[in-house]
Amino acid sequence: MRIWDVDPELLCDRHLLGEHNEAHALWSIIINGLRGFSRHPETARWRGKLMALYLRHETDAREMERRGFRHRSPLEKSLATGKSVQDELKDPIDEQERLLSERDPDCAERIRRSKERRR
Ligand SMILES: [Zn+2]
Ligand SMILES: [Zn+2]
Repeated sequence: MRIWDVDPELLCDRHLLGEHNEAHALWSIIINGLRGFSRHPETARWRGKLMALYLRHETDAREMERRGFRHRSPLEKSLATGKSVQDELKDPIDEQERLLSERDPDCAERIRRSKERRR
């Protein structure tokens, strides 16, 4: 279970859709106080930052729509409390880009192209 901190544009479809599902899962775990997952490090990282999670989900959803996927699962904004910025990164952004590139050729291609644009 992991929400990446890189720009969702850099995620391949599979990672983008997976992350979107995880955002929903984390949201309900934190809102409903579900045990079991409550001690997972990724849950701990987002607790108290539901506004940040809300915004990440919105960014994922916009990116999905841009790629032609339907999105019909809005989060309830009135529940988006707490910090609006995720300031606790498991790995620095460049390390996350490296990990994704290493694990997945589709993400690697997106990351490589965006680095070319940034140059
Ligand atoms: Zn959604
Ligand atoms: Zn990927």
